[in-house]
Amino acid sequence: MNYVTEVYNNLAEKYAYEPEFLQACKEVLESIKPCVDANLDLYRKNKILERITTPDRIITFRVPWVNDNGEAMVNMGYRVQWSNAIGPYKGGLRLHPSVNQSILKFLGFEQTFKNSLTGLPMGGGKGGSDFDPKGKSDREIMAFCQSFITELYKYIGPNEDVPAGDIGVGAREIGYMYGWYKKITGDFSGVLTGKGLTYGGSLVRTEATGYGLLYICDELLKSHGMSLKDKVVVISGAGNVAIYACEKAMALGAKVVSVSDSNGYIYDKDGIDLKLLKEIKEVRRARLTEYQKARPTSVYKEGKGVFKLKCDIALPCATQNELDLDDAIALVNNGCIAVCEGANMPTTLEATKYLQQHNVLFIPGKAANAGGVATSGLEMSQNSLRLSWTFNEVDEKLKNIMINIYKNIEATCKKYNLGNDYVAGANICGFEKVVNAMLAQGVC
Ligand code: NDP
Repeated sequence: MNYVTEVYNNLAEKYAYEPEFLQACKEVLESIKPCVDANLDLYRKNKILERITTPDRIITFRVPWVNDNGEAMVNMGYRVQWSNAIGPYKGGLRLHPSVNQSILKFLGFEQTFKNSLTGLPMGGGKGGSDFDPKGKSDREIMAFCQSFITELYKYIGPNEDVPAGDIGVGAREIGYMYGWYKKITGDFSGVLTGKGLTYGGSLVRTEATGYGLLYICDELLKSHGMSLKDKVVVISGAGNVAIYACEKAMALGAKVVSVSDSNGYIYDKDGIDLKLLKEIKEVRRARLTEYQKARPTSVYKEGKGVFKLKCDIALPCATQNELDLDDAIALVNNGCIAVCEGANMPTTLEATKYLQQHNVLFIPGKAANAGGVATSGLEMSQNSLRLSWTFNEVDEKLKNIMINIYKNIEATCKKYNLGNDYVAGANICGFEKVVNAMLAQGVC
């Protein structure tokens, strides 16, 4: 039996109750096979696949807090410290009732390769709690965050583990966690990223994922002799990633004709009015029906449909598994040239395969949305230097990081004769750097 299958089968037996983790292992292990085969004896002898699919440690703890009725509540807290082979553990904290060990293991494992791709010295980790922030008062959120950090503070630090936000953890939660960490330890350091601009946060973090997506898309097109100029782009989502993807796409000369939310989508043949979109989503926090009311030449439709629109480029920026096989078929029939994933895992496996088989250039989220964590890495650098870089300085660094990610993936595709399979290219590229560091550091 080949090494990859042998390791996967052992994992499947051992962790049968962790479906998300197994799915991530299967996808990564299968796609890195050319690299594993090329280094078979070395990797087998050093048990590289067994080690890289096992986290350094998983910390689980009780999070007790008191609700507004004076009643004690209890949640589970987790931090999965996957690998610090190339830098301190780095990855978000997720607060959502669905959070469990399998999901955090899947995310920590994936984060290790995404962080490696950025070229910055960041290891991989992920954490969170099954606490549901929806409907909680501000005081309850603060009580939870303080209790969570009361336990987690023992395991994190600017050179050990630097958590950030994720689902349910935004600027408010990071603020409460940072404040409590500082209260307990007396230490003002870059122990969390996503901080407010007045206490160590970085400019461009808000724009980073959307901007980064367009920087890598632009580089992809350039390397295939094309550009974004006058291209018709469809974007799904109307949140943080979608809005700033829209802004940068327009700045690079493309016409964005759609955005969506979980109720429906807008088709604006004249190009999305970004100022109006920001006003509706960032200021009024309203639904997209308001966009159509303010701009009667646009069309609003309930439900899904963005990827059925005619376009040159599709940027899924909303949520997981939103672009399915039917969408992929429509994109191919409509002459789409490229799909770059702004969201995490927005394209189903069948859709990805179909797009690749029909020569649609496809950049996976692990590479395409790495601009967010890369800018968090830049926040860590600024904190260590006790400096704040200007917007342009951070933006220029972000752009270079995204261009380098593309170039490294392309070089990996060439090295292993993968053609334009940028999914395998990204996985192998992220994997190789971590493995080389592991080999250099001995069995530890
Ligand atoms: P937001 O919450 O700001 O926006 C998400 C958008 O997607 C909203 O418009 C939301 O609509 C829409 N959406 C959510 N669920 C669905 C659904 N089931 N069907 C259709 N639309 C839906 O999130 P972000 O923009 O920050 O994140 C988007 C994706 O990008 C996520 O997968 C996230 O993990 C990923 N990502 C984000 C990064 C970041 O820096 N923000 C970094 C890397 C990845 P509604 O308002 O109706 O819910």
